[in-house]
Amino acid sequence: MSSFIRPEIRDFDPYVPGLSVREIKRRFNLQEVIKLASNENPLGVSPLVQKAVCREVAGIFRYPRTHCPALVRALSERLDLPEEMIVPGNGSDEVIDMLMRVRARPGRDHVLGFENSFSMYKLTARLCGIEYRQAPRAKDYGLALDNLARAVDQDTALVFVASPDNPTGHAARAEDLAGLARGLPKGALLVVDEAYIDFAAPVSDYTLMPRMRDVDNVVLLRTFSKAFGLAGLRLGYGVMPAWLAEYVRRARIPFTVNRLAEAAGLAALEDVAFYTATLDVVSQGKQYLAAELERLGCEPTPSQSNFIMFRPPKRAEDVFQNLLEKGIIVRPLASFGLAERIRVNVGVERENRAFVAALEQVLA
Ligand SMILES: *Cc1c(COP(=O)(O)O)cnc(C)c1O
Repeated sequence: MSSFIRPEIRDFDPYVPGLSVREIKRRFNLQEVIKLASNENPLGVSPLVQKAVCREVAGIFRYPRTHCPALVRALSERLDLPEEMIVPGNGSDEVIDMLMRVRARPGRDHVLGFENSFSMYKLTARLCGIEYRQAPRAKDYGLALDNLARAVDQDTALVFVASPDNPTGHAARAEDLAGLARGLPKGALLVVDEAYIDFAAPVSDYTLMPRMRDVDNVVLLRTFSKAFGLAGLRLGYGVMPAWLAEYVRRARIPFTVNRLAEAAGLAALEDVAFYTATLDVVSQGKQYLAAELERLGCEPTPSQSNFIMFRPPKRAEDVFQNLLEKGIIVRPLASFGLAERIRVNVGVERENRAFVAALEQVLA
């Protein structure tokens, strides 16, 4: 029967998520497992968010209000941009999908991204029947925006750049991204995935948000999954020109952002203390991890994000397996095409120390 399935689905390689704590506990019979593999918030969930979600539970027999008007209003105030420019989604993954379906024409357009990038751009393109092209990176895996500019042509619908980048931690400067957008042919959209922008220092050097009123071909993706600690509820949003947002709203599947997610997002924006504490823990932990990885000969890449990519002096796959047996989950980067490297996200101090101690044993 598989001949009746669309060819792009028939040989589709699905997204491979990081391993779960429960799975590893069972497999290696461990009491405690530390997960530093999916760039989640080291402090867990804000207590204000937990209260807001509990309060909202009594209302979940009602459909959500479509397009999340309360959340859009709150974001509009926070970002100082018109509500018309903001489109929430079931994670930023859904916004990527909406952009692809609204803008890219199958069999005609292609979309473009860097090699060794976050796999959702490629996977979503494939599901939509859109060709995905990759531009080479710089030598140090940096974001060579010139290479993207060179790969663009009249049939380029979307250009994806994660900045700060997953998995390298590199970030492009805002003025360079604005320059890339200015040089694009008419109709091509630059999509900057700012999932990790909260962790960049200083943010103002890297984010295009203050320029969004003045550009007509840029979309920014933001998420509540990382700095706001809501990965499990699925909430993100796109900021885009109002003309484009209107088409996206028109074409979207209704109610994909549920009531609990909207309530949680509103509370997360309110909880400044939790957000600030998250940034502090990540900033301190990142310094500690970078220094220790350097000491252990692991060549850490300087990161503007909440994780660090490194190259251990032993086979990365073995290091990953040996850490797993000790109850530490990290992310080997073979699936990103970086077989010699590993990504570890910043945890709380105790987790970071446990990771370093385990890694030191593994490398000894
Ligand atoms: C984690 C991550 C996201 C967030 O995706 P959600 O669907 O909002 O959870 C987006 N882009 C990149 C590059 C990421 O690493």
